[in-house]
Amino acid sequence: MSANVAERVFDEGEVVGVLTTEPLGRLLDYKAPEGGCGTGDFVEVPLGPRRVLGVVWGKGEGRWDPAKVRPIARVLDARPMRAELRAFLTRAADYTLTPWPAMLRLATRAPGLFAPPSMRKVYRLAGPVPNTLTEARSRVVDALRDFAGAAATLGEVAEAAACGAGVVKGLVKLGVVAEEEAPKDVPYPRLNPLGLKRLEGDQVAAGDALVHAAAAGDYQCFLLKGVTGSGKTEVYLEAVAECLRQGRQALVLLPEIALTADFLNRVQDRFGARPGEWHSGVTQTERRRLWKMCAEGGVELVVGARSALFLPFRDLGLIVVDEEHDTSYKQEEGVLYNARDMAVLRASICGCPVVLSSATPSLESWANAEAGKYTRLDLGSRFGVADLPAMKAIDMRAESLPANRWISPTLAQGVQARLARGEQVLLFLNRRGFAPVTVCRACGAQVGCDHCDARMVEHRFLKRLVCHQCGATKPVPVACPSCGVEGRMAAVGPGVERLAEEVAERFPEARVAVLSSDLFGSARALKAQIEDIAAGAADIIIGTQIVAKGHNFPLLTLVGVIDADLGLQGSDLRAAERTFQLMRQVAGRAGRAEKPGEAWLQTHQPEHPVIRAILGGDEESFWRAEAAERRAAGVPPYGRMAGIILSGPDLVQVFDLGGELARRAEPLTRAGAEVFGPAPAPIARVRGRHRVRLLVKAPKGVVLQPALADWVAQVKIPPQVRIALDIDPQSFF
Ligand code: ADP
Ligand code: ZN
Repeated sequence: MSANVAERVFDEGEVVGVLTTEPLGRLLDYKAPEGGCGTGDFVEVPLGPRRVLGVVWGKGEGRWDPAKVRPIARVLDARPMRAELRAFLTRAADYTLTPWPAMLRLATRAPGLFAPPSMRKVYRLAGPVPNTLTEARSRVVDALRDFAGAAATLGEVAEAAACGAGVVKGLVKLGVVAEEEAPKDVPYPRLNPLGLKRLEGDQVAAGDALVHAAAAGDYQCFLLKGVTGSGKTEVYLEAVAECLRQGRQALVLLPEIALTADFLNRVQDRFGARPGEWHSGVTQTERRRLWKMCAEGGVELVVGARSALFLPFRDLGLIVVDEEHDTSYKQEEGVLYNARDMAVLRASICGCPVVLSSATPSLESWANAEAGKYTRLDLGSRFGVADLPAMKAIDMRAESLPANRWISPTLAQGVQARLARGEQVLLFLNRRGFAPVTVCRACGAQVGCDHCDARMVEHRFLKRLVCHQCGATKPVPVACPSCGVEGRMAAVGPGVERLAEEVAERFPEARVAVLSSDLFGSARALKAQIEDIAAGAADIIIGTQIVAKGHNFPLLTLVGVIDADLGLQGSDLRAAERTFQLMRQVAGRAGRAEKPGEAWLQTHQPEHPVIRAILGGDEESFWRAEAAERRAAGVPPYGRMAGIILSGPDLVQVFDLGGELARRAEPLTRAGAEVFGPAPAPIARVRGRHRVRLLVKAPKGVVLQPALADWVAQVKIPPQVRIALDIDPQSFF
């Protein structure tokens, strides 16, 4: 296959440039080994006393004394990395100012990729079948005939034949069945892209556009917008089907938490088999298999979390980014990249369409569609059912609430009515824990973290105070750490755990489930709980923002937002957008099946423009207003931004370094950018490290990266100080 042929072959002894996974500059020179090597080959190279993984990137620089250049130790048994992926890695690295080796690590994140293939025993029919077999043995023979030569393990055969393993082994002894060693990393079952779902209404035009693009196979970016339940998934799965019919591979990215069994079952229903899965819950063995099958073409569809974008697809023909606005697409640690933006980049390099799907697109994508860079496809109403939930504000200024109570009488009545009808209610509060603040009633001091500039949040479930920045915990103090007075420490404000107490008191008959990321040991446990709830295992769901993400709660008919004002106060440039998206998403959880839903927002400022836009359902005017404000301020997406965080144990040292960077801004100003800061980062201390932030702002046309690189290169960063460059920062921590 042409795709697997390395473009350039180097003869033994020729100097080649190798990208390794070690943090040592870009490329290192090595000599081609005996038998030569080609561009893209995975290789093992000596580095000091060790051997490390690398990829042949091209001709070497040849700047070193050839006598000192060491040969490549060996060429690994794997498909060479394709030019498309190499180009993607370098462009993504240069865009995010990430060292190339860190990018290669992202693209090789599975253990044992290059170990000899591991084997397992498989069974198939071998010799002639005697006509005097026991019933159980006959069933085994029938089962193996059904497998039609496909490799089946002992467990699979025994299960299909409904017999014990001993029966199969007995047939092996007789010579009727052969037992063989076969590689573990086997291809995924073929998917069947036929069996059309009939699209309806707006879905038809949207589906046609996507199917057409998948068939044409050229780069094009679509923004697929429609309320939750309007059939976006249905529509993009048709594009996936077309991509499979073209014999190419498809990738669907989901926020980690939305990767539920629900979704995978749906894919299975549509295509007759499960896709390849890539997320934190997948076993290492399965990861290796998927990585290899991507490269060999043994998997047609991959459904994965953001890092699936770095898989070595043999022939990627479509990328879908579901819930494209989701902030979890931005990786905030290690390599700082936004998977949504990188998906568009990879599609443009591959030459394939990319679909960004959302009920509440990011302002970036909305603006790109407005500007004509993306093709916008709108799905109007919900499939089959009525409309979005009816929304209303509960004006908290007019409600009488005793201290430490958060459910207004109006909302309480609504809850009671749903309970009486056997329907579900969701109470949404985007605050984990019991209470966000612990304060001393004697002196007013608040309990903070010893390592961070953050208040500690009481978690009654853990019986401790927890820092949401660094995870440090301590017991709730009896005496005030500040004034020493005992017995006056008080919890202030609500968290989901405290809300759960109020609910238990007011609705003692109701079954209550609290959904908060910190209450579950694993993503898997959380998903299991969500599925139980969807099936009706709770009457009242109390949840943080994790409930907002793409789950189906068919019995849910009322969403009560406890504090709709919560996101509005932030100084974050995206505060309004986030609040808007979150409220719309949460509201979208109600009334997904036949029963109409309602969403009630408790607010102290019902006249706030964001609250009014949410209630009015006039999304376009919200976006237009928000876009106008950002344009006036020259901020993304109408200007460019980069955040620089310096952190270290010594406050003066980090501040001095920040000051030096600010003074030496010449490389930036020359490019047309401005520098702001240094200032303490919004969280000025995390894990005992002081954090200082600079912000770089530039008009839209400026290519910031080279200027940033020159700028930072001017100062020497001491070993105890870390510098993180964040292009297009999402959050401002
Ligand atoms: P979204 O992705 O926009 O939230 P979905 O694709 O999940 O919407 O559609 C919502 C529900 O409606 C799903 O249960 C889906 O199977 C069903 N549905 C949507 N469109 C169709 C269709 N054309 N034919 C049959 N069922 C559909
Ligand atoms: Zn802390």
